[in-house]
Amino acid sequence: MTKIAHCCCGSLRAEVGGEPAFVAACHCLECQRRTGSPFGVSAFFPKDQVRIEGPNKVYDRSSDSGRKVEFHFCPACGSTVFWYPAFIPEFIAIAFGAFADQSMPWPMLSAWEAEGHPWVAFDHELDHRRRQDD
Ligand SMILES: [Zn+2]
Ligand SMILES: [Zn+2]
Repeated sequence: MTKIAHCCCGSLRAEVGGEPAFVAACHCLECQRRTGSPFGVSAFFPKDQVRIEGPNKVYDRSSDSGRKVEFHFCPACGSTVFWYPAFIPEFIAIAFGAFADQSMPWPMLSAWEAEGHPWVAFDHELDHRRRQDD
């Protein structure tokens, strides 16, 4: 089943042909800044299951573990829609919220809790890591 993630204005889209391989919440400071939220949630798909469409700009940063992450965002509305994490090069990460779809699977991992806000908690069972290469 096809799912589509897109930016706020709709011009940058990522179309996927199935369910994500995994979903992770990340509480690191970079994810807080990127999303403007207390944590970010990523849906990871094998690269060959994703079709990208629309103009995008790139913002590169190093992760806290020193590896590169390449963020792609819409030049018109600024939403980051997907990114390439160098630590798992065969995957593309897509902004969970860009799917705006309640049927998406729940996060299986909560990473970088060491940098998270103490009032953020999940009510379902998932893996917890104080830190995580991201
Ligand atoms: Zn846009
Ligand atoms: Zn993070």
